[in-house]
This record gives sequence, C-alpha cells and structure tokens, in this order.
Amino acid sequence: MFLADYHVHSCCSFDADSKARMSEMARAELKRGVTEICFTDHCDFGCQETIQIGPNNFQLPKSQAHQFIDAMERAPEGIDIRLGLELGEGNHDTARAKRIYAMPEYDFILGSLHNLRGEKDFYYIEYESLEQCYELYERYLDELIELASIPCFDVMAHIGYCLRYMHKRGFEAELTLERYGDRVDTLLRTLIENGRGIELNCASLVPGGHADALLMPFPSVPILRRYRELGGDIVTVGSDAHNVKSAGLGVAEGYELLRENGFRYVATYRHHKAEFKRLG
Ligand SMILES: [Zn+2]
Ligand SMILES: [Zn+2]
Repeated sequence: MFLADYHVHSCCSFDADSKARMSEMARAELKRGVTEICFTDHCDFGCQETIQIGPNNFQLPKSQAHQFIDAMERAPEGIDIRLGLELGEGNHDTARAKRIYAMPEYDFILGSLHNLRGEKDFYYIEYESLEQCYELYERYLDELIELASIPCFDVMAHIGYCLRYMHKRGFEAELTLERYGDRVDTLLRTLIENGRGIELNCASLVPGGHADALLMPFPSVPILRRYRELGGDIVTVGSDAHNVKSAGLGVAEGYELLRENGFRYVATYRHHKAEFKRLG
C-alpha cells in the first residue's frame, strides 16, 4: 500500500528532540513502509529559534540545503524525498509569508499557527481554566480563518492541536462542532474556496507518538467529516515526527481513517500542485 508522510522534521528544526538528519529520518520512514516523504522543518515567525527566512533574503537556508542534498545521496532506494516547510504564523507577516511561498525550492508548505498575536506558543501557555481554553480556541479559529485566505501555504496543519497541551494540564477542552460549528464551517469553506487542503496530523493518533494519551488525530474526526461534507477533498497525512522512533508513526492508521470516513484519495505535492493517489 502506498504511504506518504507529509509532515516530517529533522535536526533543522529547533525542537527536534533527536539529532536525526534527514537521511536517517528517511531510512526510518521506509522501514515503516512509507515510500514518499516531505521534510517540513519549522519556520515560525513567532519563534526566532527556528529557521528564519526573509525579510530581506529569500534563499534556501544552508542547513536545509546541505541536509537535503545529503539525504538524496544517502537515502535508501525506494523512497521519494521532497522538500517542504512548516510555516508558522504566516498571517502575522503576510508579505514575507507570500514571498517564502514563491521560493522555487519548496514543493509544499504547511500553514501552521503555533502562537496567537501577543501570546506565547501554545506549548508554553499556562492553562488554568476551561474558560481560558475555550477563549483561546475562539481566537485561534479567528486567526486560522484569517490565515486560510492568504496564499502562503498549501495545506493547513493540525487544526485544533492545542488540545495536546491543554490535555497535559488536565483540561479536556476539545474544539467541537457543537461549540464552534459556525467558525469551523467558515474556516473549512475558506480553505476549500481557495483551493487549499487540510492535514490529518497523526502525531497523537497511536501509542508511541507525542501526547499519545489522546489517541486522536488533528483535526478530530467530526471536523474531518465536516470538511468532506462541505466538499473538501484535499488531505495530506503527516506523522509530525521529530525523531527516528516516531518517523512515519500513525501514517498507515491515518490512511485507514480517511478511508473509513469516505475519502478516496490522499494528496501529495509537486511545486505546490496537488497530486492525488488512490487510497488502496
Ligand atoms: Zn506544528
Ligand atoms: Zn510539525
């Protein structure tokens, strides 16, 4: 069965908790049966420790270029390797984000939001009450809606993922259709109208991933279904692996989940153009 992992980090990401090079990640992915991967290291406008591109120079960062060439040379036969980026907070600097998107070196860009304007990264926020979590989701959705119409990414990453960190602090504040249905519909419709897809992030779908106590994907299954109901059909699947141990973890299960929910195709990308592979 064809498997593609479109959310993979290497040691080019500041938070990669192993020092795995792209070539090592590729080898580990192939062992799990993944035959196409796209490296999406972090470029977060809200976090200076990540790769920074622009505002003046829009060349491929040296660290990524070296690793990618090395990976192409050393990776085992049988795995197709693409270069992408996880671009965080594109809506905080639209002009810069659009120029990054126009760089010819990337096949694919994930659009993420890891921190709201004036807030810390969701990872670092001190969650103290359910009300606070619900209020953060409202602002998160408002910013995602803003981001959805900016031509600076192909696929929106991990919608609702902040639950990973809220859950760790004991707050089960899920982003549900019951509570946020109107905003979620606006978000999904905006993505669909603009030809952008969503990612099914599998980092906490199976045991062994990060925040695996949740055992759910991002977005949640009801939001994934809603996307389909509204006519959405562009979905990439990603492990969001930051180390060799979790490389490709959950991708096969993610494909299964897509099938169970009526999807027939999964997307891969070349030069920001979606290609569709039939789901087994
Ligand atoms: Zn992310
Ligand atoms: Zn990521």
